[in-house]
Amino acid sequence: MALEEYKRKRRFEETPEPPAKVATKAGNRFVVQKHDATRLHYDFRLEMEGVLKSWAVPKGPSLDPADKRLAMHVEDHPVSYFDFEGNIPENNYGAGTVIVWDVGTWQPLSPVAVDGKYVPGTEAEAAAMLAKGDLKFRLKGKRLKGDFALIKMKGRRPGSKGNEWLMIKKHDDHVVEGYDIEEIEDSVLSGRTLAEVAGDTGSREWKSRPTGRGKLKAAWLADAVAKLDKKRAAESGVKKKRKK
Ligand code: MN
Repeated sequence: MALEEYKRKRRFEETPEPPAKVATKAGNRFVVQKHDATRLHYDFRLEMEGVLKSWAVPKGPSLDPADKRLAMHVEDHPVSYFDFEGNIPENNYGAGTVIVWDVGTWQPLSPVAVDGKYVPGTEAEAAAMLAKGDLKFRLKGKRLKGDFALIKMKGRRPGSKGNEWLMIKKHDDHVVEGYDIEEIEDSVLSGRTLAEVAGDTGSREWKSRPTGRGKLKAAWLADAVAKLDKKRAAESGVKKKRKK
């Protein structure tokens, strides 16, 4: 059953993470979360079949096709995990701080390239590619853009769980050679860094988000930011009158 593993691994009376619930509405968002757990890593999640298909990428995605990034396929997450930012308490699964590093939409690419270029595919093709272990897709994020592939590694190393995939940038106009994901540290939703969220006891006032991140054109993104603002305001315990 979908999200069964997600549910089994967590104690929802302790973690602020969202409950296991399969979405009935279709969607095509993606998220990259930066997660300071036992080991710092990035979680890459694609909205698909009512859940977020998820991979833990130790070094994070790259816009350089020369980087073949190890991506461990992990349990499906609920769609509401999409804008989760906060602290998972000690002694809980995934304990540590999470920020939303990138958000956007994605589309499947057809497994067959036309004149050496990838063209949009269907959801059915995406499901088949995922099952086969060779998923090609296009990202339209705030930070990650262009064509990518997630490829399941075949040879199993001794002791491996068989969940090792590689995330690879395809050649296109969005390639950045020598890409360094660590150069951008803040949350794409709140502007906060891991350290700021980690040190957040709930007593601090909600800082206004930094400017220059562009207008939030997409309704779903504006919703995510508004939700986060509301949550932060509630956490701060400070009820302020809105200024005009
Ligand atoms: Mn994680």
